[in-house]
Amino acid sequence: MPEFRVEFYAFANVNSTIRLREGVMHVRVSDLLEGAPETVIKAIAHILLSKIYRKPIQPLHATRYRRYISSHDMTAKAHLVRQVRGRKRIESARGKIYDLDEVFEELNRQFFHGLLARPQMTWSRAHARNSLAHYDPAHNAIVVSRVFDHARVPRYAIEYIVYHEMLHLKYPVKLRGSRRCVHGPEFQAEEKLFPRLDEAKTFLKTL
Ligand SMILES: [Zn+2]
Repeated sequence: MPEFRVEFYAFANVNSTIRLREGVMHVRVSDLLEGAPETVIKAIAHILLSKIYRKPIQPLHATRYRRYISSHDMTAKAHLVRQVRGRKRIESARGKIYDLDEVFEELNRQFFHGLLARPQMTWSRAHARNSLAHYDPAHNAIVVSRVFDHARVPRYAIEYIVYHEMLHLKYPVKLRGSRRCVHGPEFQAEEKLFPRLDEAKTFLKTL
C-alpha cells in the first residue's frame, strides 16, 4: 500500500482530488467537508480510491455522498464560502513603476526554467506595511503591497519579494501534525540562490 497524505484543502467549491506521485498518494478533500459525518468521509474515500484504481463505485457510497452534498446546508455553505472567496477584487499587475507580470516572467526565466504557471499578480489596494506580500492559494494570486511600487524601491528588492512568493508557489504549505511548516528546508535553500538576498533584506528593513 502506498503512503497516504491526506489534507483538507480550500478549493473554490466542493471538490476532492486524488493523485499518485512517486509512490505517494496525495488526497485533497474540500475543506467544506470538514466535520462531515464519518459515513460521508468513508464514502469519499471509497469514491476516490475507486477512481484511482478504476474500480466500480458502490451505489451506497455514491448515494450517501451525493445526498450529503446536495443537502440544503451544504449548498448554502458552498455558496457562502464562494461569495467570501470571490469578493476579493483582483486588480492590475501594472503599477506606476513596476509591472508584476513582467517581474514574475523575468524571474521565472532566470530561476525556474520558465516552468512556473503565473498566478494573478496584483498590487494590494492599501499601502499595507505589515504584510509585504503573500501568496493566496484560494485565488491563486500573489499580492504585493503597493508600498513597493515606488521609485525609491530598487528593482532587486521587488524581485526578491516576488521571488520569495514564487517559492511559496513552488513549495505549497504542508501540514505537519497541526503545525504549519511555511518555510521548509528546501524553501530556505532555494531562497539563498537569490543573488542580492542580503542587500534586499537590508533594504526591506529600512522601510
Ligand atoms: Zn514566506
